This record gives sequence, C-alpha cells and structure tokens, in this order.
Amino acid sequence: MVAPTGWRYWKQHVRIPQLLESAGHTEQLRLVGKRLWGPCPVHRGDNPHAFQVDLERDLWFCFTQCARGGDVIDLARLLSAGCWRRAARWLEQLSHLEPTGCCRAQEDSGIPAAVSPDFRPFRRALRLDCTHLFFRNLGLTPTTVRRFEAGAWYGPGFLEATVAVRVHDAQGRPLGYAGRRLDRAAIERWGKWKWPPKLPKTHILWNWHRLRPDAAKGLIVVESPWSVMKLAQAGFDNAVALCGLAISSVQLQMLLRARKILLFLDGDEAGIHASARHAASKFHPCIRVIHPPANLDPADLSEAQLIELLTRQTR
Ligand SMILES: [Zn+2]
Repeated sequence: MVAPTGWRYWKQHVRIPQLLESAGHTEQLRLVGKRLWGPCPVHRGDNPHAFQVDLERDLWFCFTQCARGGDVIDLARLLSAGCWRRAARWLEQLSHLEPTGCCRAQEDSGIPAAVSPDFRPFRRALRLDCTHLFFRNLGLTPTTVRRFEAGAWYGPGFLEATVAVRVHDAQGRPLGYAGRRLDRAAIERWGKWKWPPKLPKTHILWNWHRLRPDAAKGLIVVESPWSVMKLAQAGFDNAVALCGLAISSVQLQMLLRARKILLFLDGDEAGIHASARHAASKFHPCIRVIHPPANLDPADLSEAQLIELLTRQTR
C-alpha cells in the first residue's frame, strides 16, 4: 500500500505547534488562551509579542517585520528558506510521525534514570531517511538503520544537516535524537556529534536498552552507534557504544553487569590510547581488548572482516 502524501494530506496531518517543535521553536512560545505567542521564528526577531499561533484554526501570523501569516504549509516553506522541495520533505516526515511511546521499556532498577530537572526529553519518533548516502558508504543497510532508529533528517532545526540516532535511557525511554554532523567545516569547528541540550550523556550507553547485559556472550564496547550497527549486521548483536572514549561512573556501573567485556574502540591514535588506559585500569574483571586495523573504525570493516577478527579473538 502506498502511504498517503501531498500538500492536502500534510495540511490535515501536521499542525503548526508540531512543526515548530520539530524545528526547536517552541521553547519561547507562551500559551495565552487558545493562542501561542512568542518571537517570530520566520524573521528571527526577539519581540515576544510578534508572532501568534491560533491553535483552533491552526493559523499563524507575524505582526511585526513579516506582517503576514498563513497555514502550516506557508510556515514550513518560509522556515525552509523559501524552498518548496525542502518544505515538502519536512512535512512528509512529520506527517508520518509514529505515536509517542516507550519502545521495549525494560525494568532496570539500580541505574539512575537519565533525568535532570533542566533536561526536556523529546519522546516522539521521527520518520528518518534510512537510505542516506552516509549509511551506504558505511555498508549499513536501510533495514539495519531503521532497526536502530537512525536516519537522515531533512527539516530545519536541531538536526539540520545531520544524520540522527535515537537515544534512550537505560530503562528504554526515548530521550531524543543525537545528530552526527555531515559538513566538514562544521565538524572541525564543533565536533562530529551534536547532543540535545542538557542531555545527561554520561548516563548513556547507546543500545543498552535493547540488550541483555548478563548474557553469556557478554558485551562488546565500541565508540560509535555505527559500529554497533555494523556489528549487528555481522551477527554480533551485543554491542554498546560509549559515544566517546571515556567511561563515566554510571556507564561503569552498567558495564559491570556484563559477564565479560570485549573492548573494540576505533583504530586511530585516540582510540588506541583509550583502549590501553581502560585495559590497564581493569575496570571489569573479565576484559579483553581488540583493535581494528590502523586508522579504521569497526564500522569501516566488512562483515567478513568483523567475523574473522571477533571469532579469532574467542578461539
Ligand atoms: Zn516575522
């Protein structure tokens, strides 16, 4: 069955607050009666009385610089720098949002939930493009990318110009999405990853909530979500990602639940140093270390290479 689509469909299924939320513009809006008021996201002003959303009619208006208004489609186009094509892709993604909910929540007492009073989780599931070239270059199939709730986001806002992965706490509650930047200049300036503001990153072992840490095969600990995905494709579905090189006290507490640890960080200088440091600290009673070939990440290896490397290790 072909999923319904088109401007009329989007207009019926995407509401203005949802559009604004996905672009990170709801923070400053205040609800007064049946209207939202705040600075105008179109001309990016700071007058809190400039922009209004009529929630009943699902229309918006800017009373200052723009001096115009319209429906969700007009707003999507203006927030997409006037580009109809980008607006269409954005609305298409939003119109197929899955219902909010926990995925595979598991009772996991004893591990602090990743909440701080300032952090606002984003619970909704975004419909992301699993076929983006970034994944194809890593040899990750759309099925794998979808299974791990990753993909490219084409709308503006927090995830603009990134490929995103969904992040959960240890209990499996969704916290939002982290974005891997794609633009080389942006990476040099700000680093590869973009995390939601105030997300307690030190509480996250990516993919933890999908695993049974006490299983006999133990856990494989890697740096990036892409390595977790690539290992899963090669049949090793017991990997978690540190999303960095350090191991926080909360992550340590989680890793100590595993029967054994295979540390498999990236093959660059930083990864090799961190591996040596973690191995020397013997943070787990049963830890072994392997490396990918120099300057490669586990995600760069083919499934056959991963199988060869990991089975050689366990023989
Ligand atoms: Zn305006």
